[in-house]
Amino acid sequence: MTHLLHRAIHAKLPVAVRGEGIRLFDAEGRAYIDASGGAAVSCLGHAHPDVLAALHAQLDRIAYAHTGFFTTEAAERLADRLVADAPDGLDHVYLVSGGSEAVEAALKMARQYFVEKGEPQRRHIIARRQSYHGNTLGALAAGGNEWRRAQFRPLLVETHHIDPCFAYRLQQAGESDTDYAARAAGQLEAKILELGADQVIAFVAETVVGATAGAVPPVADYLKRVRAICDKYGVLLILDEVMCGMGRTGTLHACEQDGVVPDLMTIAKGLGGGYQPVGAVLLSSAIFQAFSEGSGFFQHGHTYMGHPMAAAAGLAVQEVIRRDGLLENVVSMGDYLERCLVERLGNHHHVGDIRGRGLFRAVELVADRATKSPFDPGLKLNARIKKEAMARGLMVYPMGGTIDGQRGDHVLLAPPFILNREDVGQIVERLGDAV
Ligand code: PMP
Repeated sequence: MTHLLHRAIHAKLPVAVRGEGIRLFDAEGRAYIDASGGAAVSCLGHAHPDVLAALHAQLDRIAYAHTGFFTTEAAERLADRLVADAPDGLDHVYLVSGGSEAVEAALKMARQYFVEKGEPQRRHIIARRQSYHGNTLGALAAGGNEWRRAQFRPLLVETHHIDPCFAYRLQQAGESDTDYAARAAGQLEAKILELGADQVIAFVAETVVGATAGAVPPVADYLKRVRAICDKYGVLLILDEVMCGMGRTGTLHACEQDGVVPDLMTIAKGLGGGYQPVGAVLLSSAIFQAFSEGSGFFQHGHTYMGHPMAAAAGLAVQEVIRRDGLLENVVSMGDYLERCLVERLGNHHHVGDIRGRGLFRAVELVADRATKSPFDPGLKLNARIKKEAMARGLMVYPMGGTIDGQRGDHVLLAPPFILNREDVGQIVERLGDAV
């Protein structure tokens, strides 16, 4: 009997006892290639010596200091690093302990920004279907999966959902990328006008959709159009890069590839690489200024925000990525992974799409390639693929089910940035067998 709630409601799980590089080992000595990075977290793999050394050194110095009394060198250095690397215009940082906390803080920052500006009537958040922004109540309200939200209605934040930009599922036959980008972004404008432009706080979207849809990048120009629409109506743009950010797609921030700078950006997961729970919100100077000229502070806070151990982990992970040129490896191994996936699975009669950016890739599985019809959810395909992959010593991140008639089953891959061609070969071989 286990007393762990998260374990009691899951099938029997192996006990992880050790990690090294791209592998985890269980209590029975079996090795698993971590091709999912947990959930797109472990960007440096496991037991990275430089991160361990930084954590030991931080622990020897100071493990905790409450932000109401002190700042710490670790938190200051991480904030400096994040701002130095952020797109122009994002020059302040709010440190938290994870992705949901980051989204929650960003939603509240956006709300308070308009209160400070004398527009307290703004109360609507627009987000997208087939998105995930976290499990706390505000982040849950923003997320676009009804099955996660249904039991918790009425939700505490007024959110409205438009379609994601999802070429495989929603671009029409013969429709150009330009036309599709205009049509998909047009939904945002229509929703803002329906709600009243002076009633909307923000539009929230994952730059590249992660777990819920499977590494779905926007078509060219979609986010630029979204940015322009937000600017036109004075609505804030929040990009959630908790999963796709911090190098996962080959640039530090995924939105760099779309030529767009949001007003608020959430990051977590790969920020600390799993060595400590850490997340952050990057915010624009306009938002910072509204707080400093208004009530003087952001009305929020958590006991563990700016935690020195978390900051030390984040800093060490980010320094290793830069020092070892790992973003280049993400790009080259990401391209190679895509090629291997296409070679091994591209002609499979149940593979509908292979997509993604960098080391953030997914294979979408369909019952019928011609109609793109998803599998019957009763088949529990995702659970079966996970089981088959684990039996072959491979961790992948499958998700599935038909929630709104659009979504199929997909297997997400988000391996550590340190992998080489041989590792990629093994991952694809095992995944091919599992499928
Ligand atoms: N946003 C996105 C895009 C995510 O993928 C996740 C986690 N899967 C979250 C927010 C929530 O992060 P956390 O689980 O760290 O609270």
